[in-house]
Amino acid sequence: MAPEDRHQLLQVGLDDFLYVDRDDLCVVDFINHSCEPNCGFTTATTLVAMQEIPAGETITFDYAMSDANSFIEFSCRCGTSTCRGRMTGEDWRIPQLQRRYAGWFAPHVDALIRAHHDS
Ligand SMILES: [Zn+2]
Repeated sequence: MAPEDRHQLLQVGLDDFLYVDRDDLCVVDFINHSCEPNCGFTTATTLVAMQEIPAGETITFDYAMSDANSFIEFSCRCGTSTCRGRMTGEDWRIPQLQRRYAGWFAPHVDALIRAHHDS
């Protein structure tokens, strides 16, 4: 897989990825990662606003909400005060994120968190 193609991936299950084709849906160009996102997940493929989003503002979600794979790692320059500096496939393990995004994680990540707490 070419590195540029990874930007169009959405992890929808522990081993499942949805590839959003740029020609299909240009919306992918308007959705980004942020460490202070304005959207979260209600299903693996449903992104919902967590707060009012002013017109023109980028739609963002924290990739920790859906990504649990090490190949989706990058230096984050989202510029928010809580920026982690690096997004990794292990970020769902961070307790502060688990609290902040409770109810907004994609189902497969939510299941990982629950399994992690039960063990
Ligand atoms: Zn950031």
